[in-house]
Amino acid sequence: SENNITKSSILDVERVDKRFGAHHAVRDVSVRVRAGEFLTLLGPSGCGKTTLLRMIAGFETPSEGEIRIAGRRMNEAPPYERPIGIVFQNLALFPHLSVGENLAYGLRVRRMAREDIRRQVAEALGLVDLAGLEERRVHELSGGQRQRVALARALVIRPKVLLLDEPLGALDLKLRRQLQQELKRIQQRVGTTFVFVTHDQEEALTMSDRIAVMQGGQVEQLGTPEEVYARPRTPFVAQFVGDTNFLTGSVAGTGPNEMQVRLDRLERVIAVPSPAGHQLPEGTRIGLSVRPEHLVMAGAQERLALTVEGRVVERSYIGASTRYALEAAGESYVAVTADSGTGVPALQPGQPVSFGWAPESAVVVPLDAADLSV
Ligand code: ATP
Repeated sequence: SENNITKSSILDVERVDKRFGAHHAVRDVSVRVRAGEFLTLLGPSGCGKTTLLRMIAGFETPSEGEIRIAGRRMNEAPPYERPIGIVFQNLALFPHLSVGENLAYGLRVRRMAREDIRRQVAEALGLVDLAGLEERRVHELSGGQRQRVALARALVIRPKVLLLDEPLGALDLKLRRQLQQELKRIQQRVGTTFVFVTHDQEEALTMSDRIAVMQGGQVEQLGTPEEVYARPRTPFVAQFVGDTNFLTGSVAGTGPNEMQVRLDRLERVIAVPSPAGHQLPEGTRIGLSVRPEHLVMAGAQERLALTVEGRVVERSYIGASTRYALEAAGESYVAVTADSGTGVPALQPGQPVSFGWAPESAVVVPLDAADLSV
């Protein structure tokens, strides 16, 4: 409706391509990043996410397409003329300088008055909860504090867009999880647009407003964490973002809300929800994604799409839940069950088990990307 507030985009990546000789690193990528958004580029090593970030920063030039920041074409602008800040994985702080001098550096280069520098440095340190630490040497700080100094140094120039290249990648898991929360909080507080690169899907799900899932130089899906997790549109997204049971089959019958799918290995025809927005003709090859938390053991009261007879291969107790590796008809399955405390005995390895899933918890994705546009 007209009352909808649509935030304008601050960063436009439009049909961008990057070739290194014969190697096609980024293919026809278009992304519009909204002002104040936390956008993550997520994908495995070599998918092109760093190259895309480097083009936004100005360290690489697109072979084709356009990059605009705040409506201005940036393709020809060198990094220092772009309204951006950057945080690298290695932080690139000056270890022998004080925290204050590290932050002041970028402002001195811009020939700012000394009093303004002092004020802006103090303000940036306040934003990252390091107020008053101007005189401390970088080598006297903890890993987490250094991380925040690097963030403050990137924010002190008041960039329109902050680019972060796996800034938490070198940290141990516990510190990493803690800093994820901090970074998210700081981003919400300062309201600066963040473009964040990671290969860690859990990190992307926790922190982002939207995620661009990349593979082979392309963005396969761009959406909220909930969308890419609960409604993946490609086999890659279904399998890269979160654990899943991925079965193959083909369309055996279509309908507006529900369709019939013939599963290859289980040799069964089942009903599943039709994918939103497009009809897949009969015979289309498809993948069926069922999340481990949606795989239920028989005995549960739910209405199941089918019941599979198999056996337990492995059981791992994870505290709040239990993870089962299952096997049926030569295929592996994963189930995660919340410990209900209702006294249901744990299943043991080797034990026969029947399991299934509710029809509405299965997500169909075409195996061939060409079928997506049907
Ligand atoms: P990683 O997480 O390992 O950094 P990535 O997803 O960030 O991976 P990129 O660094 O963007 O991937 O690289 C994408 C592809 O482009 C890779 O195959 C890489 O080898 C290639 N590539 C990147 N930079 C160059 C370059 N300067 N010259 C030639 N090939 C390059």
